[in-house]
Amino acid sequence: MKVAIITGISGQDGAYLAQLLLSKGYKVIGVVRDLNRKLTGLEYLGIHNDVTLELCDLWEQASILRLLAKHRPDEIYNLAAQSSVGLSFEYPIETIKFNFVSVLNFLEAIRLYDNKIRFYQASSSEMYGSVAKLPVAVNSPMHPLSPYAISKASAFWMIVNYREAYKLQCCTGVLFNHESYLRSSNFFVKKVIVEAIKMTTDPDMVLRLGNLNVKRDFGYSPKYVEAMWMMLQKSVAKDYIICSGTSVLLADVVRHVFNNLGVDTSRIVIDEDLNRLTDIEDIYGDNSEATNDLGWDYNLNFYQVLDMLIEEELRNSVVRYPLSKLPVL
Ligand code: NDP
Repeated sequence: MKVAIITGISGQDGAYLAQLLLSKGYKVIGVVRDLNRKLTGLEYLGIHNDVTLELCDLWEQASILRLLAKHRPDEIYNLAAQSSVGLSFEYPIETIKFNFVSVLNFLEAIRLYDNKIRFYQASSSEMYGSVAKLPVAVNSPMHPLSPYAISKASAFWMIVNYREAYKLQCCTGVLFNHESYLRSSNFFVKKVIVEAIKMTTDPDMVLRLGNLNVKRDFGYSPKYVEAMWMMLQKSVAKDYIICSGTSVLLADVVRHVFNNLGVDTSRIVIDEDLNRLTDIEDIYGDNSEATNDLGWDYNLNFYQVLDMLIEEELRNSVVRYPLSKLPVL
């Protein structure tokens, strides 16, 4: 039985990745920073009793070495991070320190303990920032526009360095925005869906949003975690772009959600205080290496994904939603 360690198991991708690996017969060790916290994602997927939870302080290399010695993993998926671009402007030092040091601690621990362990690092399209040429490929020039993006870029180059210097089996998945029911509600798409559903029963509510005149390449988390697993099955470690390949305007995302739920778009209030200090105008990637080398397939249009997410959100908030307004499924 293969053993996989997942950090960030309490997050969106951690839960879906755990579900995927369990379905493939892995023993899954989930790293948490508080054993008493409810793991709502794992519970939602009905797999909370199938994962072994371990407390591990990712700030401490010794703690990671103990984790490796105890579980002797074949694969490690490092998803733990301060993952919000917005929060990274409020907490730049914490974001950069944790998102970089935790990765370096893992690389050093693997180098010292067992350099055959395969290591996946979760990275982000945000590293490329203001790109001169679209679509983005792995080797496109980077111009990160936030502390979060800088932290992910630094970790990216650390992975490259350990692969080149020590021949570690480590690689980075450069993932573009991806969503699911398990996304936390401080992220744009989830927030718009959750708030728009509340607005169907509260006629006085408005939704305040920042700049909607930017475009992003959005995808679906349960499909993106498949690519993470595929990357670690390759005998030669390599970094890949994981994305849908097209970008959509945030204003169109909001319009689609509001129209689907029958909420008037005049109830959106644009609040410039919510704008990011520096932001990417448009970004989309080229996923052809992932589809050709890994056999990863992705053919979901993001409006289809939005409809799936709205439906799932409604199913789970049925008490608050008037029966007369429930869509016919
Ligand atoms: P989430 O925000 O849902 O999950 C983040 C996870 O990191 C949580 O389990 C959280 O644990 C953990 N974490 C945060 N800070 C710390 C810390 N100081 N110590 C230990 N654990 C910590 O992220 P996603 O699942 O959406 O994303 C997974 C990874 O992919 C992240 O690294 C993210 O940056 C990256 N990524 C995500 C994209 C997306 O669109 N979703 C796009 C590109 C990259 P806790 O519950 O204890 O807070």
